[in-house]
Amino acid sequence: MGKMNMKKNIAIIGGGPAGLMAAEKLSAGGVSVTVYDAMPSVGRKFLMAGSHGGLNLTHSEELNSFLTRYRAATPHMDAAISSFPPQALIDWCHGLGQETFIGTSGRVFPVVKQSKNLLRAWLKRLEEQGVRFAPRHRWTGWNEQGELAFETPDGEVCAKPDATLLALGGASWPRTGSNGAWVDILSRENVALAPLEPSNCGFIVPWSPYFSGRFAGQPLKPVTLTVDGKTLQGELMITDKGIEGSVVYALSGVLREQLHANGKAIVHVDLRHGLSCETLVKHLQAPRKAQSFSTYLRKAGGLSAVAIGLLREMTPPESLPINDIEKLAKLIKALPLTLTATAPMARAISTAGGVRFDALDEHFMLRDKAGVFVAGEMLDWDAPTGGYLLQGCFSTGVAAAQGIAKYLRE
Ligand SMILES: Cc1cc2nc3c(=O)[nH]c(=O)nc-3n(C[C@H](O)[C@H](O)[C@H](O)COP(=O)(O)OP(=O)(O)OC[C@H]3O[C@@H](n4cnc5c(N)ncnc54)[C@H](O)[C@@H]3O)c2cc1C
Repeated sequence: MGKMNMKKNIAIIGGGPAGLMAAEKLSAGGVSVTVYDAMPSVGRKFLMAGSHGGLNLTHSEELNSFLTRYRAATPHMDAAISSFPPQALIDWCHGLGQETFIGTSGRVFPVVKQSKNLLRAWLKRLEEQGVRFAPRHRWTGWNEQGELAFETPDGEVCAKPDATLLALGGASWPRTGSNGAWVDILSRENVALAPLEPSNCGFIVPWSPYFSGRFAGQPLKPVTLTVDGKTLQGELMITDKGIEGSVVYALSGVLREQLHANGKAIVHVDLRHGLSCETLVKHLQAPRKAQSFSTYLRKAGGLSAVAIGLLREMTPPESLPINDIEKLAKLIKALPLTLTATAPMARAISTAGGVRFDALDEHFMLRDKAGVFVAGEMLDWDAPTGGYLLQGCFSTGVAAAQGIAKYLRE
């Protein structure tokens, strides 16, 4: 990004990965940048992302297959991700003194798995580049003069920048600051929005009080889930109201579509991962003797207590094929589980929906609001966990910064 007129002022609202990346690129180009955030400090969700099993920055898979992870939004994300691809993000991380490694699943993490050091080094760089931070500035929209209006502890503050980037995030984990309140502001301005929905989220299963009391908090791992012919392996966690976990998150897009279409979603759970149905039948042929059915399933079938509990929970006693081993094995290998809703947004990893791509030009500027750009999770794209979320935020942050630079030049 070439040097630009020092007098140009850019307001970036939202200090998450998308906003901060845009701030870095624009300030490096010599523009005066202020990052406004409602919270007392920036990057709270980024810090949280690093606290749950490590910061999964991006994924090492080949770019073409990487891009397919954005499903319907792939055509809109392609240019941004191709011009700031996973390797550029990894190099950026190294440039901030944080080495990375590729995990067994191809996911890329900083060696220091929390985000703290990376964020600290990043904020230092931004300050050195002259980025100003305005914490405790809650954006409430545009006033009658077309200025940005912020609620602060000292009353209302207004700003009239040369360009604005909205990088306000989704609506999950609202205590990190991303509460989706911008939906009302942008609806008032007639910006086309797709409804926000939880993504990479848990789902509700109406458990019996006995089952949730006995098994909530217990994992089924490894487990294989199949939805609509799509089969994935990973960890499933029983919660007091349903299921969550990596494999559930990864299938959340398809499951949400089923819920929309049918009012329920059905997932088939393989309770005896790693064993073919035929082998399981052979194991189950072991004489049951005086064992209880559960003991028999545990000893002959090799099922865990939670797997047995789930089998019993989902199958009325009269329908359990106790004496038909082939039928029993089939049920164990593909137990249908009915999900009735998504778990609440506040607990989701991310949100689908947001500012629709047809409201934007190819530089991420709102077609009907010249000089106002949008980046990050508040855009209408969705992706599974695996580093695709952060990569999407960083890449659209870079693309919007390039769009702003171009807008200022012209
Ligand atoms: C538990 C958890 C773990 C995760 N782990 C990973 C992971 O390992 N890998 C991965 O790729 N992704 C992960 N994610 C997702 C990832 O963190 C988000 O997709 C990403 O942070 C979104 O970046 P963003 O810049 O769009 O918005 P955010 O990071 O949400 O930042 C938005 C900012 O806008 C501010 N803001 C909101 N409204 C206003 C307002 N009205 N006025 C002023 N400021 C406002 C907020 O305070 C916030 O600072 C995880 C998410 C969660 C919740």
